[in-house]
Amino acid sequence: MVKKIDHIGVAVKSIEESLKLYEDALGMELAGTEVVEEQKVRTAFLPIGDTEIELLESTDPDGPIGRYIEKRGEGVQHIAYRVENIEEAIKEMMDKGIRMIDETPRYGAGGAKIAFCHPKSTKGVLIELCQRDEE
Ligand code: ZN
Repeated sequence: MVKKIDHIGVAVKSIEESLKLYEDALGMELAGTEVVEEQKVRTAFLPIGDTEIELLESTDPDGPIGRYIEKRGEGVQHIAYRVENIEEAIKEMMDKGIRMIDETPRYGAGGAKIAFCHPKSTKGVLIELCQRDEE
């Protein structure tokens, strides 16, 4: 069902600070940043090969990323898999007994349609399903 790893989401305290690692040390290039108001998060995308690293910086200590860092510190927060049709993918997951946080898709950075699976249902990994119009 899933096509590829669309991106890996990494929770960071500061995008600016993290770019010292991703740009200066690893030599990756920042493709852009975007605030996703609904998620209280600022994102930065760094493409690598056929996928991307998505840095997530909270714009509010009470937002999901703010709370995540408070509890677990910085680190890999989710893995996003590309799907062709997110409504069908959600239905298929639920039919197979996987709990979804989002039973209907919402919009993430870059206008992608996304839905999170419940980590209790996915072996502790927060899995995001992600549909994009092909660039
Ligand atoms: Zn993501």
